[in-house]
Amino acid sequence: MSTDPNRPTNCPNCGSPLQEREGKYGKFLGCTKFPECRYIFDLSPPTNLNCPDCGKELKWKGGKMGRFLGCTGYPDCTFLYNPESKDKRDIFCPECEEKLELKTDEKGTFLRCTGEEDCSFELEVKMEKTIKCPECGGSLRKRTGKFGVFLGCQSYPECHFGFNADRGEQATLVCPECGYPLAVKEGKYGQFLGCTGYPDCKFLLNLK
Ligand SMILES: [Zn+2]
Ligand SMILES: [Zn+2]
Ligand SMILES: [Zn+2]
Ligand SMILES: [Zn+2]
Ligand SMILES: [Zn+2]
Repeated sequence: MSTDPNRPTNCPNCGSPLQEREGKYGKFLGCTKFPECRYIFDLSPPTNLNCPDCGKELKWKGGKMGRFLGCTGYPDCTFLYNPESKDKRDIFCPECEEKLELKTDEKGTFLRCTGEEDCSFELEVKMEKTIKCPECGGSLRKRTGKFGVFLGCQSYPECHFGFNADRGEQATLVCPECGYPLAVKEGKYGQFLGCTGYPDCKFLLNLK
């Protein structure tokens, strides 16, 4: 375990003990008085990346568009780097200042330095597991529209792909965990997209 000298033992807002929790985007310390107190101390390892606009550190954050690197100078600086976005700006290696490039291999997705071989800087990008758009390869997100819950492409309005299981629409969607096709199934709690690789793969997405 890292021993961050800044790591608080009690909540700086209300004095209650803090508890280690694991969220969607990594470990953090949360106040035991949650939800009355929403203090959070991020335990994710430092990215060592600096904001190209203001030089402050970039940190992983989660939003409704997925996981992104945001400037810790926010709200004064609104720079963000969303690995899934097509028109993202360049970010640079903290060691040699060359451009970083997003690369995916069997070990995962990484931001790797494009500089000379002697720089081996890389940062793991823990991408959220999302179902890919069959038309553009972007991520599909659950949305609610006029006709109920549907899966819409993150690249909207450039990509108009949408899938509404309720309306009997068909689409070839692939499981983000194992690559098998997904099928619309009916369960106790309503409709869901389940992996046809079940029971080996338990991926499912509720469509309610
Ligand atoms: Zn608190
Ligand atoms: Zn900044
Ligand atoms: Zn480098
Ligand atoms: Zn799309
Ligand atoms: Zn699967």
